[in-house]
Amino acid sequence: MYLENMKSTKSLNSIKKDFPILNRQINGHPLVYLDSAATSQKPQAIIDTLVDYYKNHNANVHRGIHTLGDESTKMYDIARQTIAEFIGASDKKELIFVRNTTEAINLVAYSWGRENIKSGDEILVSEMEHHSNLVPWQMLAKEKGAVVKFINVTPEGKLDMEDLKRKLNPKTKIVSVVHVSNFLGTINPVKEIAKIIKEFQIATSKTPRNDEKRPLIFIDGAQAVPHMPVNVKELGCDFYAFSGHKMYGPMGIGCLWGKKELLEEIPPFLTGGGMINTVSKDKTTFTDLPDKFEAGTPNVAGAVGLAAAVKYLQRVGMKTVREHELELTKYALEKFKVQSSKFKINIYGPMNAEERGGLIAFTLRLRSGQAGKEVHGHDVAQVLDSQGIAVRSGHHCVMPMHDKLGLAATTRVSFGIYNTKEDVNKLVEALKKI
Ligand code: PLP
Repeated sequence: MYLENMKSTKSLNSIKKDFPILNRQINGHPLVYLDSAATSQKPQAIIDTLVDYYKNHNANVHRGIHTLGDESTKMYDIARQTIAEFIGASDKKELIFVRNTTEAINLVAYSWGRENIKSGDEILVSEMEHHSNLVPWQMLAKEKGAVVKFINVTPEGKLDMEDLKRKLNPKTKIVSVVHVSNFLGTINPVKEIAKIIKEFQIATSKTPRNDEKRPLIFIDGAQAVPHMPVNVKELGCDFYAFSGHKMYGPMGIGCLWGKKELLEEIPPFLTGGGMINTVSKDKTTFTDLPDKFEAGTPNVAGAVGLAAAVKYLQRVGMKTVREHELELTKYALEKFKVQSSKFKINIYGPMNAEERGGLIAFTLRLRSGQAGKEVHGHDVAQVLDSQGIAVRSGHHCVMPMHDKLGLAATTRVSFGIYNTKEDVNKLVEALKKI
């Protein structure tokens, strides 16, 4: 079957060779790609998997009884099983294919939220959320007359756990936080958050506005699943979302994992073909999980490609991935301390690399001339691009946290499995030219 040839282990030493795009020259320089938090590059094995799917197996799933339809359906099912096992789900039916993390959050805000949120209820997010994990909750709150509250972020860029405890109350219906911040880099203590919430659930289960299932806990894992071992059951959350394109898989495919009993309880998000049992002129009944949440023709090639990406990551090993990116982050944080006589680098988020994922957002301030003046992130990114180095600048879809820090924009470097210390050296040399 299509994942069979992806079993042997893979060393990180020569991994760059697997990524054809990394052979490109950009503005006369070899590409140094430091924007994996926005999207990762794709290894040849994943590109080949997509080509093979379309060349040899393409057909719609769960329909027509012909060989290609059967092959495609099997590949789609194996993809679901592979990805479900990768994140420690106990049942592949708990894994819903969506387009991306954003769609997964919208699905829950829509389907669960519209059934369960009432006027006066509270939705608790943190100040470091990506807009994807804020705007859908804001829309829901506006529609229902509920309130979105924010867990404070400490000056060190960490979640204020005491503030979480203070803000939990019987009106809190869901707590939705990011696993790894795409701006501060902070790895949030999801397991501890889940434990605090569980204890709160038990303590308040008899109050009229609550029951032992509330508040639920939703985790935005977009920046975690590609970079470290994740086991949704061990974390103790209710929902978990991630995107395929950030983990070496194709664009347009992502996953929502949810506890089976919750997914069974809530109504579908989108409706139409592929998710019904019976339809009459006045009534429709829906299929079981996971099809109930996958209306219309799914992105089969995307799912198959994402499963290939999972196999690829498993060949490297998620512990190895984390260790590699941690080492690069430590190295970069050290290098950033060796600063130019012309400017000072301010780094945001925890200064201890162990507490952060493989990304660093920073600003540059000039020392002399226009002393104290900040170089705009776009200028930094442009100068780096002229030397073949791809980084991101702006608010990274985390405007509230930038506002809190009084920042209009930052520059962000983010690592993937293909990055090396040599890439960091090139970055630091290029920064000196600014
Ligand atoms: N959440 C976090 C933490 C992210 O970093 C991103 C994307 O950068 C998203 C959510 C949204 O991901 P997508 O655009 O794939 O839906």
